[in-house]
Amino acid sequence: MAHSCDDICRDLHLYLDGEATVTSRTVITVHLEDCPSCAEAFHFESQVRMVVARCCCEPVPDSLRVRVLRAIYTADP
Ligand SMILES: [Zn+2]
Repeated sequence: MAHSCDDICRDLHLYLDGEATVTSRTVITVHLEDCPSCAEAFHFESQVRMVVARCCCEPVPDSLRVRVLRAIYTADP
């Protein structure tokens, strides 16, 4: 059964939070190998989380999130 990109995007957050089921993780992993746009979204989200986790454990305000996203974009070599 094919999973749409919308399904994957919705579960991506659970996956990144470590809350996805084993089945869901497998579906996402397989989908990411075949779908460049979801793979890109996944790498992007995981980078954001890494940066945010390094900075603080508090919930991040949107203004800071935007700055983090810009920093990631401009930090590319
Ligand atoms: Zn996809």
